[in-house]
Parts: sequence; C-alpha cells; structure tokens
Amino acid sequence: MYSNANANRKAERCVIDFYETLPENLRRFSFDIKKAVLTLGSCTVHSYQEFAANRDVDVGDIIAYCESYTGCTHKQGKNYMIMFNDSADISRADKTFTLAHELGHILLGHLLVLESFKIFNSSHANEHFEQSADHFAALLLKKAARERSRSARGAEITVPAYLFERAELDWI
Ligand SMILES: [Zn+2]
Repeated sequence: MYSNANANRKAERCVIDFYETLPENLRRFSFDIKKAVLTLGSCTVHSYQEFAANRDVDVGDIIAYCESYTGCTHKQGKNYMIMFNDSADISRADKTFTLAHELGHILLGHLLVLESFKIFNSSHANEHFEQSADHFAALLLKKAARERSRSARGAEITVPAYLFERAELDWI
C-alpha cells in the first residue's frame, strides 16, 4: 500500500543525493534552479514563450498542449524536457518552485512509472506524485536557502514562506 511517510523519506533522500552532486558554486553562492536542473545533462529547460515563438503559435496553445498553466515535463527516450510558463504575471519564486517540482518528478522516477502518459502534469497526474514532487521542491529550496545563509557571500534566494508551507518541513 502507498505510504506517504515512505514517499516523503524518498523525496528527502533524493534531495540530499542530488544536492551532493551540485558543484560548489551552485551549492553555496548562487543557487539557481535552472542551472541545477541542467547539471543532470539529460534534461533541457524551455519556456512556453520560447516554444510558442519558435513554432509561431500562441502561448495559450502551449499551455493547452502541456495541460498546465505553470509547467510540465516531457520524456523522450532517456531525455527529459521541462517546460515552464515564463509569463510576467507569475512570480520568480513560483517559477523557481515549478522547476524544482518538475525536477522532483524526474528524480523520483515518476515519469518512468507513468511513461505512457508522455506529458506529466498536475491535472492528470497521480495526486501522490504531485504531493511528493511538492515535498521534494520545498525541501530542495529550503536546503539551498539554508546553505546560502551559512555563507556570508551568498546571493539572496527569494523563495517566500508560503511555498515552503506546501510541504512539511521539520527536516534538516
Ligand atoms: Zn507535478
């Protein structure tokens, strides 16, 4: 049977393992979720706007294609492509959380489980996976913020508290 506690522990383990793989400059001084995602090597990141412009379609068409206003992840063979809405009406903090959430889906193996879905998003995805990806995202961003606060030279990470509250954070 599915266990929330087990899923959360898996997400915590996954955050720790992923963080260990990041280069020093990303870990301590200038955590940037997009750069962190790109260290995977097997994942690219594109905005809806970039996609729409390249294909000469409306951003609304991309949102419909992804079936998500904020973001989605596409799996093709062994490679992943995260797409996110770079609209000015979405805060930088929310975009950061979206990218971290999609990274969570990849690292937690959700797309392998639901590979036949091809496009993975909140409207069709298993609710448990959504909760796990949120938990992963909140933990990763909290860890990044905490590491930064240990460094006097660290750049500011602006992630508001309400994003952290999406997950239980009595952790680290
Ligand atoms: Zn999701």
